Amino acid sequence: MLAVGANAKENAAADRSAGVRKLVSVLGATGSVGLNTLDLISRTPEAFEVIALTANRNVDTLAELALRHRAKLAVIAEEGAFASLKERLAGSGIAVAAGASGLIEAALQPADCVMAGIVGAAGLHPTLAAVTQGRRVALANKECLVSAGEIFLEAVRQSGAELVPVDSEHSAVFQAIAGADPAAIERIVLTASGGPFRTFSLEQLARVTPEQALRHPN
Ligand code: NDP
Repeated sequence: MLAVGANAKENAAADRSAGVRKLVSVLGATGSVGLNTLDLISRTPEAFEVIALTANRNVDTLAELALRHRAKLAVIAEEGAFASLKERLAGSGIAVAAGASGLIEAALQPADCVMAGIVGAAGLHPTLAAVTQGRRVALANKECLVSAGEIFLEAVRQSGAELVPVDSEHSAVFQAIAGADPAAIERIVLTASGGPFRTFSLEQLARVTPEQALRHPN
């Protein structure tokens, strides 16, 4: 399934009332999306079990999060930070790993849901790994779609993974059409809320170049 909506919510509610804890991994746990995900998890700890957490080089926060959420695995992408992470988690029973292979290992852990919260193209391989396992993937990392959309969505189709859009516009569209018959949707209109061309007319927009787009700080 490519996306989930009301059904996923109902399933989550049903699972919670049945006392089944959802296994969750957070890729990019130390970032804004990751921290907010873990904050939500901590509000209903009886509903979730944290499996794998990853960061790039922020060892302190990663170790603290892993201990607080009793993660099974903590992974630091920066290999030079591995010893430091290992030292901080010594005696905790939490497994540690590092580097690109460590990120993949985190993504491959058995989980009901994987939050893809790594920023940039670095998120592609780990998120693809989670997808190939047929997981429910909460996709904040839009770069997966921007940099490898065709390959990524084909992997979703092949594996039967569920993609839940977390990025703002994707999620807004997803929520707006939840439960609707796809055949009944004629078109989806996105309006710009920012960016270098926000005030452009249609005629000006028709002539914009990649160079102009790249001149924008974001
Ligand atoms: P942050 O920069 O706050 O966090 C990024 C996370 O990815 C951190 O955990 C960081 O680790 C980790 N990371 C960075 N580089 C690498 C790397 N090379 N390898 C492995 N891990 C890495 O980003 P956000 O949380 O803001 O955004 C995450 C994704 O979600 C982005 O794709 C963004 O576009 C999207 N998004 C963000 C929203 C938001 O409100 N913040 C809203 C909607 C979508 P460390 O802390 O160690 O650097």
